[in-house]
Amino acid sequence: MSSNIKSAAVVNYAPEKGSVEIREISKPDIGEEDVLLEVVNVGVCGSDLHQWTADHSWPVNYPVVLGHEFGGYIIAVGSKVNNWKEGDRVVSETAAIINPNNPLSKIGLYNLDPERKGFGYGVNGAMTKWVRVPARCLHHIPDQLPFEQACLTEPCCVAYNAVVGNSKIKPGDRVIVLGPGTIGILCAAVAKLCGAEVAIVGLENDQHRLNIAKQYGCNVIVGDATNWATERDGLGADFIIDAAGTSITLKIALQLARPNGHITKVGWGPQPLGFSLDPLVQKNITLQGSFSHNWPIWERVISLLANGMLNVKPIIGGVWPITEWHEAFEKMHKGEIVKSVLKPI
Ligand SMILES: [Zn+2]
Repeated sequence: MSSNIKSAAVVNYAPEKGSVEIREISKPDIGEEDVLLEVVNVGVCGSDLHQWTADHSWPVNYPVVLGHEFGGYIIAVGSKVNNWKEGDRVVSETAAIINPNNPLSKIGLYNLDPERKGFGYGVNGAMTKWVRVPARCLHHIPDQLPFEQACLTEPCCVAYNAVVGNSKIKPGDRVIVLGPGTIGILCAAVAKLCGAEVAIVGLENDQHRLNIAKQYGCNVIVGDATNWATERDGLGADFIIDAAGTSITLKIALQLARPNGHITKVGWGPQPLGFSLDPLVQKNITLQGSFSHNWPIWERVISLLANGMLNVKPIIGGVWPITEWHEAFEKMHKGEIVKSVLKPI
């Protein structure tokens, strides 16, 4: 039996471009292994924008409430939930549905379970007042970490997995990050924490976002990064982290990487490629994909956010009530700000 209490939600209702609107939805019921979360803040992700502009490459269960970067208070717990109680301050992982018997789930890589369905595309997300969350997705956040920042744990985990889990960057490595969006800037910030020399690359109209990246101590480059890549010994950068929302940047990554170097692709783009991968072979380059994150990454990133070693404040461009989602999406889409944060009403 569904509740009659309603709240405003940012709903993506169809696969056509622009199919997002505010709808009143019922307060969700929870299962015995779930909690009900009252959302305090929810970040807008590049993938929310991709669903809005209909250039995404993943299946969406329409209509669906957007939003998978969120934190809030537990206001109800299911009958089989232990160790969590009303009032707990939490953030949630994104893998809302997984098959616990999948071999990948059994080794803790449930983020790679093909049956995984995430908040905001597979099940209702958090751009609304209440969201149903399986207790296994939850992480405590300390009191000193405000929700406005804590809700961005998720993109930080994406960056941590790309840079640490999937790239093994070492102190002194020369790292080039392609794309100064949220993930790119956070990848640059994490690479700095690893002791790397970091440059982030954008286009002419990325100036504002590149200035924000500077606050993380990286070099910023508009356009061609060849000079920086080859500055040391003429051979190229040790690591390229490709965080641009397109596939074609792989071509640039292959040019900038040194022989025996490493490319990690974390940015999405459904358009096909039209070039040869021969440089990958000739230069003996390792090409690595990076997707999502899992429990130990969340615990580690929450520690970094809580102790101030990783600071997301510079990327937050503003906080809007969810009814003003359009402005928040638009500003991010145009690159006027790096990250929009919403607040349910
Ligand atoms: Zn995201």
